[in-house]
Amino acid sequence: MRVGVLGGGQLGRMLALAGYRLGIQFRFFDPNSGAPVGQLGELIAAPYDDEAALARFCDGLDVATYEFENVPLDAARFVAERVKLYPPIQSLEVAQHRLKEKEFFSSLGIPTPKYAPANSADELAHALGVTGIPAVVKTVTMGYDGKGQVVVRDRSAAASAWDAVGKRAVIVEEMVAFDRELSMIGARDNDGREVYYPLIENEHSDGILRVSRAPVHDVSLQLRGAAEDYVRRIFEKLDYIGVLAVEFFQRGSELLVNEMAPRVHNSGHWTIEGARTSQFENHLRAILSLPMGEADAIGEAAMVNLIGETPPLQELLSIPGAHVHLYGKAATERRKVGHITLVGESARNVGTLAETLRRAFGTGTR
Ligand code: AMP
Repeated sequence: MRVGVLGGGQLGRMLALAGYRLGIQFRFFDPNSGAPVGQLGELIAAPYDDEAALARFCDGLDVATYEFENVPLDAARFVAERVKLYPPIQSLEVAQHRLKEKEFFSSLGIPTPKYAPANSADELAHALGVTGIPAVVKTVTMGYDGKGQVVVRDRSAAASAWDAVGKRAVIVEEMVAFDRELSMIGARDNDGREVYYPLIENEHSDGILRVSRAPVHDVSLQLRGAAEDYVRRIFEKLDYIGVLAVEFFQRGSELLVNEMAPRVHNSGHWTIEGARTSQFENHLRAILSLPMGEADAIGEAAMVNLIGETPPLQELLSIPGAHVHLYGKAATERRKVGHITLVGESARNVGTLAETLRRAFGTGTR
């Protein structure tokens, strides 16, 4: 079986690492010839509007998928006309546009933070009346890891916020004073079968995920049920196939949806060692119509991202119980270059580990 992956980042790399065990072959497409999929599979390095290269990518594939949600829609459509492409393109259309995404959640009755669109400084000032202060202003497209976002703490700052985001169409959101951030990852196959991983607790700083812990224990059945129900509504509406991640804010007994990622997700990296079947393997199983595996956690698991500078491998491997993953990326500021997963007893030490990495290497602070 041969799977084509649009995007050649670390998520594609981990998909391949999971798929090789099953005898699956991979072909990647990425504009960057130095992409982290490196030597892991055939890499077609070309711009997304190079149709001849896209046609070569499609040739002989059993199925195609993508590993980041900002794949240009025209490229995704070109591929989908030639080979099965999962998750469905509509999921990309929704996830690429923060306003459409929030409207989509609202149309499904899924609670979100208060929001309003704005296309000018005046509209932004008006939108602040809907959301209240403080508010988060986000460009509607091309935002990830906190990019294209500004927090507004004062109504008089509307004009400067509009300038700061580059005078582009934005969504203004109520800044939620959440108790914590959670995510839910599920997978659905062609026959509508679904599996759900346990709820995950996530710590972000500066808009970037730092630490994930799973399963979340101190959560009511009702809250967990609501998370699953929201993911299921999205699955059904989109006729979804593959892995989907949905990020939430928990405020008391309320669960508000922040965003969705129609792909494998950073908050699910712990599933490689911490769950019966990893998110990467279940994504492949789902898109290839193979039986999906159980999604329960084997025990406690925690993951810490390595961001910016990579500590020496020797030091990382001397951390007791550490499962070290490095992505083969050059370290630059705010870049995810690897992660460490701890399972079982040692997962409780993830807070200390994150702090040690931060102190010793600045990892996670830059
Ligand atoms: P996003 O790119 O929308 O996932 O935002 C990245 C991070 O910024 C989130 O995980 C939160 O920590 C924070 N954030 C984004 N939107 C809001 C919001 N409306 N209220 C509070 N925090 C937010």
